Amino acid sequence: MKTEFIIEAALAIQQTILANESTLESLDREIGDGDHYINMKRGATTVAEMQTDLASLKPDEALNKIGMKLLSTIGGASGPLLASFFMSMAKVLKENGDESNLKIAAAFAGGVQAIIQRGKAGISEKTMLDVLIPVSNQFVLLATQNCNVKLICATLIHTAEQGMLSTKNLIATKGRAAGLGERAIGHIDPGAKSCQLMIEAVCKLILEK
Ligand code: ADP
Ligand code: MG
Repeated sequence: MKTEFIIEAALAIQQTILANESTLESLDREIGDGDHYINMKRGATTVAEMQTDLASLKPDEALNKIGMKLLSTIGGASGPLLASFFMSMAKVLKENGDESNLKIAAAFAGGVQAIIQRGKAGISEKTMLDVLIPVSNQFVLLATQNCNVKLICATLIHTAEQGMLSTKNLIATKGRAAGLGERAIGHIDPGAKSCQLMIEAVCKLILEK
């Protein structure tokens, strides 16, 4: 992985967040407090603005810097969770290296583990983890099988979408929507939607290369 790619990915993520304003805003208005789009926009814009500072860093240093910045810029529940994802991913990359798909998949899995620990949540609790856990598992599996990067990306786009859609019929047991009980059924989780969009944007970037 190259820092140049991390910067390209950050710009693609910013674009997809901005392009999905009404979707993200209305999802969080339905089962949250309506601020998820604003939080994601603030985070994505801040990272996009860091591109000159990031350019001279190693990939793990760039991801760590992104995580630390997100901790102080995105509010809400999602801010510290996403910040811990980037900082933990950076830590695994620094320790293990980044020269294969398997090493990048392991670093992604380390980031997802950090969200699990910090948020004390798991699968089927109607959160971003319903996208991140299956994507992480699939990424490790495909990388272990030595699949090429394009096949991995095409598959992960699909896995992320399935995970996001799976939140629709769940009752939330974590986050703000947990107070809604059955009224949350029928609504997609906003954090799951934003994670699906981010994964799709990064995978499409690789598929278009
Ligand atoms: P807030 O809930 O504080 O308003 P956001 O609206 O930015 O913050 O983010 C809400 C999203 O955060 C939810 O849609 C959900 O995906 C995610 N989330 C909330 N709590 C948790 C948790 N404990 N573990 C994982 N994700 C969570
Ligand atoms: Mg919210």
